Formats: sequence, structure tokens, C-alpha cells
Amino acid sequence: MKINPVTLPVKDRFALPDGMIYLDGNSLGPLPRHVDGILSSMVTDQWGKHLIKGWNQDDWMGQPMRVGNRIGRLVGAPRDSITLGDTLSIKVFQALASALHMRPERTVILSDSGNFPSDLYMAEGLIKHLDKGHELRLVSPEAVESSLSDDVAVVMLTQVDYRSGRMHDMQKITQLAQQAGAVMIWDLAHSAGAVPVDLASSGCEFAVGCTYKYLNGGPGAPAFVYVRPDLIPNLSPVLSGWLGHAAPFAFETSYRPAADIERMRVGTPPVLQLTALEAAMDVWDDMDMLALREASIHLQEVFIAEVEASCPELVLASPRNFAERGSQVSFAFEHGYAAMQALIAQDVIGDFRAPNIMRFGFTPLYIDEEDVRRSVEILADIVNNRLWDNPEFKKTRRVT
Ligand SMILES: *Cc1c(COP(=O)(O)O)cnc(C)c1O
Repeated sequence: MKINPVTLPVKDRFALPDGMIYLDGNSLGPLPRHVDGILSSMVTDQWGKHLIKGWNQDDWMGQPMRVGNRIGRLVGAPRDSITLGDTLSIKVFQALASALHMRPERTVILSDSGNFPSDLYMAEGLIKHLDKGHELRLVSPEAVESSLSDDVAVVMLTQVDYRSGRMHDMQKITQLAQQAGAVMIWDLAHSAGAVPVDLASSGCEFAVGCTYKYLNGGPGAPAFVYVRPDLIPNLSPVLSGWLGHAAPFAFETSYRPAADIERMRVGTPPVLQLTALEAAMDVWDDMDMLALREASIHLQEVFIAEVEASCPELVLASPRNFAERGSQVSFAFEHGYAAMQALIAQDVIGDFRAPNIMRFGFTPLYIDEEDVRRSVEILADIVNNRLWDNPEFKKTRRVT
């Protein structure tokens, strides 16, 4: 597709509340303005009037593949190599189980200590369930390359660290993992829609990712899974649900996987969520990921310089070299939780990750340099004047 890049930001595409500076698109993307209308007409006209006919008439059944192809453009995936459904934890499980199947003689799943806990927990659960002596080996992010021994079946990494924003070199690690005979799985939760990704040229076997973060699909939007096209025909799906069957409506008593990526589907797709996500993907139609990346780095650099100049107590917890960061910047601060609550109370929204990390996501779609400077002014006021030191900001909530 030929793209005429737009000028960033494109704030008018989003329904952000007046006065809010939203630095948390890495956790939950905001509502694209037009999604509301599309979603409510889907509910009223499709669900309301077509009822079950909608599966054919409105092609609800084709949504996972349709939306998968639109995500594919952003992450460099060939056509029909991505499908959607379920949560990211489930897609991690599916990819990992299929990957282990490809290396029956090896027992180690290699990951790093910065990986998101759910990915690690899913690996632990799968290992226990398989009961074949597999081991989850965690090393520091810097030690992944030197830990590629010949017992490693699968390397499973999240490209951009959810806490620090540190970014792995996807091309290089994939190549080294494959040279060592391992299967490569990338989790793109903090990459898709944030940084340019080229799955096809990386050659990795599997990738999974999130759509409610940088892709703005809304809370609970389903995850995606990518399988390298040449592997699909022999891929063995462990969650063998009826919608991954070659002929779901033949209602055979025994499972036969679909010939294509649809074999990674499990059950009924979340149509309302996929409708919201499909509409949200319109935001990306004229977006050039290299231009977006450049704008993101600029915002991050301004933020780091301003925070370091005005908040001496905060310590950068992200790589200083922008090439090693995704689209977020983290600072460590002893009173980070309370400071973040104080910041949120002034409508600058970031988030907190235990034990002491204040996390800020930079999405050039709706953040500009003026927002960055303003947010640092407020942050500096909170930190330097101890405005965080207030019992109201120290109450722990269920979601941080
Ligand atoms: C956000 C995130 C998840 C969340 O998984 P869900 O099952 O969708 O809740 C998992 N892994 C990583 C790396 C994430 O960043």
C-alpha cells in the first residue's frame, strides 16, 4: 500500500478528555473518535436487526483474519499469517506449545527476567501440564545471546520490556537462536503500533501481541498470533477448538486443523471487541511507522532531558540510548507510587510498576512536545514540593 504520511500528532482522531495528558497508551490506548459510532451501529443494526444472520451477512466470522491482515501491515507480516482471539496469555500458551512440539528432543525454554510475568506463568503452567522434564530458564536480558546452548528448544522474549522499555534486537537474536537450533517466539505487546517491526525479514517462527495497548482496540480487545507461513501446514495446535477446525460446520467428532492460520483460532470470536478494534485500525491507514518512530524518540528525548534537569531525585530506569528503547520511558523514584497518584490527580496519566518505577508511554499519535513539557512541569512540582506526601496518594488500589 502506498502511504502519504500524515503530520503527527493526529489528536483529532481521538476522543481524549479535555486537559488530559495521556502517557499510558502503552497500557490502554485511548478511544479513537469514530469507534463509538461504528460500535453502536454494529450493536443496533447488526446484532439488533440481523441477529444470527450477522455471522454471514456482516462477515463476523471473517473478522479475525481481516483484522489480522491490517495488523500485519504494521508488523511486517505476510498476508494471512495472523489471526486474533482470546487474550495474550492464551496466545503465548498456544505459540509456546506448538513451538515445543517442533523440538521434541530439547527441554529448555529460554526467556529473560524482564519478561512480563504472565508469559512466564503460562510457560510454567505448560511445563507442569506436559510433565516431560521441561525447564524455564531465566537469564538477564543481556545474557540471552550467550545462553543459547544446544538444549534450548524455544527462545521466548518480549521485545520491549514492559517495565524499563528496553528493546531487544529482534533480527539479531532471532538469527542467533535459530543458528543454535531453537525456535523463536516474540511477544510484541509493547512493539505493535509503537516501533517498526518486520516479522517476515526477522524469520522468527512465532509472534504474539496485544491490541488494547498501542493499537487502541479497547479494554479486553483480543490478542494476535503470527505463525511463519511455511510452518502453518505442519503446525500442531494444542487448543483444538471447533473454529480452528478445517470444517467447523461439518461437526465431525474428531479434530482436523484448518489448512491455514485459522487453525490458531479456538472458539467464538469476541465480535464486539473485534468490531471496535477493526474500526480503531483505521487510525493507522496513512501511518508510516518510521515517521512515528522518529516522532516517538523525539518526545522521549525531550522528556528525559526535562525530567533530569528538573527532578534530581528521579533516576532514569530505561536505556539512555534511544535505539535500545521502545516507546516508553521509566524513572525510578522511591515514592513513585504516591507521586504517580498525585500526577494522575492533575490529569497527567502514566502508571506505576512495582517496586519503584514510574512509567510513561509516548504515543506521537496524540502527544506533542508541548504536552511533554507541561507534564514535566507538573511532575517537577509534585516531586520537588513533596505534593505526593499525602495519605490520599498512598492508598493502594487494585490496578496500579
Ligand atoms: C500486556 C501484556 C500481557 C497481557 O496479557 P493478557 O492475557 O492480554 O492480559 C501479556 N504479556 C505481555 C508481554 C504484556 O505486555
